Parts: sequence; C-alpha cells; structure tokens
Amino acid sequence: MAISGAGLSGLCLAQYLMRAGIDVHVYERDPGPFIRQQGYRIILDRHGLEALQESLPRPLYRLALATGDEPGGHLRFTDRRLRNAFTINFKDEPHATRQVDRLTLRSILMAGLDGRIHYNKAAVAVDDHGRGGLRLRFGDGSAVDASVVVGADGVGSALRAQLAPDARPANTPMAGVYGRSALRQNGAGVIPESLRTSGVLAIANEPGRAFFFTSMRFGESPQEAFARLAPGSYAPIADDYVMWGLLLQQEEVPMGVRGNLLAMRELAARRSADFHPLIRRLVETAELDATVLNLFATGRRPRQWAVPRATLMGDAVHVMPPFGAQGGNTALRDAALLGQRLVEARRNGTSIEEAIADYQDEMLPYAFRAVDTAAGLMRRLTGGAAAPHWVLTRVLPRLHRVTVPEA
Ligand SMILES: Cc1cc2nc3c(=O)[nH]c(=O)nc-3n(C[C@H](O)[C@H](O)[C@H](O)COP(=O)(O)OP(=O)(O)OC[C@H]3O[C@@H](n4cnc5c(N)ncnc54)[C@H](O)[C@@H]3O)c2cc1C
Repeated sequence: MAISGAGLSGLCLAQYLMRAGIDVHVYERDPGPFIRQQGYRIILDRHGLEALQESLPRPLYRLALATGDEPGGHLRFTDRRLRNAFTINFKDEPHATRQVDRLTLRSILMAGLDGRIHYNKAAVAVDDHGRGGLRLRFGDGSAVDASVVVGADGVGSALRAQLAPDARPANTPMAGVYGRSALRQNGAGVIPESLRTSGVLAIANEPGRAFFFTSMRFGESPQEAFARLAPGSYAPIADDYVMWGLLLQQEEVPMGVRGNLLAMRELAARRSADFHPLIRRLVETAELDATVLNLFATGRRPRQWAVPRATLMGDAVHVMPPFGAQGGNTALRDAALLGQRLVEARRNGTSIEEAIADYQDEMLPYAFRAVDTAAGLMRRLTGGAAAPHWVLTRVLPRLHRVTVPEA
C-alpha cells in the first residue's frame, strides 16, 4: 500500500498497517523528516488519543503521553490589554485530553518505520490499471505500483484534484502568523502564574484581529523519555515554549511577505504593536525559523470518488480553520478508521473497494461536522458583527479585575 504524505495521518495509518503485518510505504514531498519547523503544539482529544492508542506499539503510545501534558483547563477571552472578558472552563476529565508538541508527535509516529518513508517524493497522480493495480506517480518522473493509494498530503493535496475533483477547499478571509518563543527567558518564566494553565485569546479593538497564546510544557524531558521508550529515535524539541498566533485578515498579508520568515515575524510585530507588552515580548523573542503562515480554508464535501482503490485522509479532504482544535484529531481518527477497515477486509477476505467506501461513508459525517464547527467558531470570534465584538472588547473587560498588570 502507498501513502502520500508523512504528516500526522499518513504516519499514523502506516503504523496501524505495519502492526497488522501489511506492507506499507510512505512517500513524502519534503527532502527530510524535520525540514520544516511547525511551531505549535496540538491538543489531542479522545478521538486523537484513541487513534494513537490503536495504531502505535505500546511503548510509543506511552512516549506520546509521557512527553505531553495535561492541557490547561481554561480558555480566556480578553481584550488586547489582557483584561478578562470571560473564561471557558473545559470539562474536568483527567487524561481525556493531552497537549503534545507537534514535531515530537511526528517523530514518535516515524519511529520503527525505517526504510518505509521515502523523501523527495512529491505525488502528482494515480493511474488505475484495473483489476486492483494502481500506480502512484511522482513529480520527479518515478512511480510505484500499489494495491491501495491513500492521499494524506495535507491542505494543498495534489491527489485531491484527481480523486475528489469537486472537493477543492474554499478560501476564507482569515489567516494566522504563528510562532514559538522560549517559555523561560533570563531565568524566569514569561507567562505570569495567573495564566499558567490558560490558553488566551486577546481580541483587538477592530474586528478581524486577535492574538492567541498558550504554553507547551513537556510532561517529561523529551530526551529522557525517548531514550527510555524509543531508543535511537530523535527528540526534536528539548525545552518548554509558548506557542502564539496572530489572527488577521488575509488581505493584511502582502504577497511579498508570504514565505519570508523575517517579513512574517515583522508583520506580526507591527500588527500586535498595540497589544499588551507580554504579547509584544512573545513576538520579539520568537524563534525565526518556527514562524509559520497559515491561510485558513474550509474543506468542501466530496460528492464522488474517482478511483475506487484510492482515497484521502486528513486536511487533504477536510481542512478546517484552526478553531476548536479538531483538525489533527480528525486526521488521526481517519487514519485509525481506514486502517481498521483495510485490516478487516484482509482478515475476512472481503473487497478492498468496499472497505474504502465504508471508510468514506463513515468519515464524511464526523469530519464535515468538525469543519462546520471550526468555520462557525472562526466567524463568531473574528467576524465583524459589531455588537458582540463591542461587548467582548469594551464592556466585559471593564467588569473584571486587571488580569495581567502592565509593567
Ligand atoms: C496553528 C495550528 C494549530 C493547530 N492546532 C491543532 C490542535 O490543537 N488540535 C488539532 O487536532 N489540530 C490542530 N491543527 C490542525 C492540524 O495540524 C492538521 O489538521 C493536521 O496536521 C492534518 O494532518 P494531515 O496528516 O492531514 O496533514 P499534515 O500533517 O499537514 O501532513 C501532510 C504531509 O504531506 C506532505 N505533502 C504535501 N504535498 C505532498 C505531495 N504532493 N506528495 C507527498 N507529500 C506531500 C507534507 O509535506 C506533509 O508532511 C492546527 C493547525 C494549525 C495551523
């Protein structure tokens, strides 16, 4: 079986299939495993954690839990000066969610797949030779034969145009510039104790701009945990950090800035200049090569699938704006579900085409519920509806004590 894309879902499916003794190979466009910094943590919910538990060998699952942390129990909404508007308290279910560093999780998902991940392989198309024979073609002119092809090649999926031609994602007006800054600077933590367990969304005075930040604290030192549970594998990040994201309108991000790390960080600094000094400090001290620009898009539900033995998973088929923390969880859930259907088909001697169709029928409802929820949250939190924005930024903050005093 051939998977294009060594991201969260592609690697998770590879782990699932390999545990079941199925010959699987992953083809990744990047030239190596840690070429691109992706400066953020993700929160794994019940679906994400269950998918990892079903797919990974036990020590690797324990490694994901050990290096992760219980996410903070709150999301605070504040004005731009960090004065509280209101706070959402998440349900208190210990161990139901886990905050993990994304690069660390990717490294865990790669463990044991030696010789099965092939870099510099940008998938471009699938040829269907009939009678169960597919050929996955790459941009460099090479190709591999496979009985099943899975496109897990993310939001810009090259295979989606062919496999689900009506499912090209819709653009949204919003974008995010993301960064990562050291949690401890000059011997002290940058995040005040009052915000230790909170994610914070600071909303600007004008609609359509906000700043999010939260800290990523490793439960156990990644180096030590990797040495204990996955000797020989690489722990890509060593220190706790603050992940932040400036949310702004796409039209505020000039073309010349896109792809230029320094220009993106400078844009973030300019657009957050009137926020609280803590926020300005986070941007000023951000690691340059962890700066990421994300243009938010929403997936469109495929109505037809062009190649019966080929399918799509994750952002390739149901990208969603990063509101509500469901994109990665849904991608991992897809991987475990597709793995389960393929393994059952092999065990029962039933048709692979049916297994893939069952996966698609089951995946689309939960995935597009998540897309709708994320898009709705984005509209509510960044939209221009004057009254709610005014209440959030001008009324509610006046009713609360100062959250983070300004020095
Ligand atoms: C700032 C931010 C914060 C987020 N926070 C959360 C969170 O808290 N919780 C959560 O659940 N989700 C979160 N998400 C969403 C989550 O990161 C994505 O939904 C998830 O990574 C999707 O996984 P995937 O496997 O579909 O794609 P990816 O992980 O993006 O992997 C795709 C892979 O395919 C490769 N590729 C691309 N094109 C090709 C090609 N032609 N051929 C071969 N390979 C190719 C890419 O290089 C990449 O390695 C967040 C996203 C952002 C931007």
